[in-house]
Amino acid sequence: MRRPMVAGNWKMNGTRASVAELIEALREQKLPSKVEIVVFPSCVHASQVLRGLEGLAVAVGSQDCAGQPGFGALTGEISATQLVDVGCEWVLVGHSERRLVLGEDDEVVSRKFAAALGCGLKPILCLGESLEERQAGQTLEVVGRQLAHVVAEVGIAAFERAVVAYEPVWAIGSGLTATPEQAQEVHAAIRKQLAQEDERVANGVRILYGGSVKAENAVELFGMADIDGGLIGGASLKANEFGAICRAAGN
Ligand code: PGA
Repeated sequence: MRRPMVAGNWKMNGTRASVAELIEALREQKLPSKVEIVVFPSCVHASQVLRGLEGLAVAVGSQDCAGQPGFGALTGEISATQLVDVGCEWVLVGHSERRLVLGEDDEVVSRKFAAALGCGLKPILCLGESLEERQAGQTLEVVGRQLAHVVAEVGIAAFERAVVAYEPVWAIGSGLTATPEQAQEVHAAIRKQLAQEDERVANGVRILYGGSVKAENAVELFGMADIDGGLIGGASLKANEFGAICRAAGN
């Protein structure tokens, strides 16, 4: 049995004051213990969030890490080593906003994935196609290529400690959600691709869906065989909504 997981990606949002309010509101939520819950605040708020969530079964992660572990002359970067040191357990790698807006390619994403794992940080590898790619019928090919690159670089065994997130770019922040069937098709293809390398690892790996998930559509999405939870953007900034999504994953 794969333990369901819900991850909240806060993106470039929040001030110390609004983060304190969100923490307070999260503490008032009834969160299901069978669901693994992680939030990804901006790095400047990581320590505040870690302290604020103490005693709650909610882990903290970073939205990115450097492709190089340890320390060094890399102005502005934050390494997986440093993230582990402050108490982060997870990291997002390959989010489409970093791929498309900040120009990260599969090579960079693979390096970050490897750096994270090497430091004991668990990566959530984000994959997804653009609207043009979907309309051209290239979804499985694009997602398959993104996945294959990382598997080739780090090996299939690395996925015992990682999570995959399928996030169609056209569904992120757009209010357009993939239908449960559209998402399931891609999730099943991801698992099948991993199974070609190692069936046991493929059956154990959690594959989250992301892209305009709300409390209202979560139950249906999480009901699909290969959808093991969600990566939530906008709705994770509202404690009530996020709490409801976590409870949906627990049902
Ligand atoms: P969204 O973002 O839920 O706001 O669509 C998801 C994500 O980018 O991880």
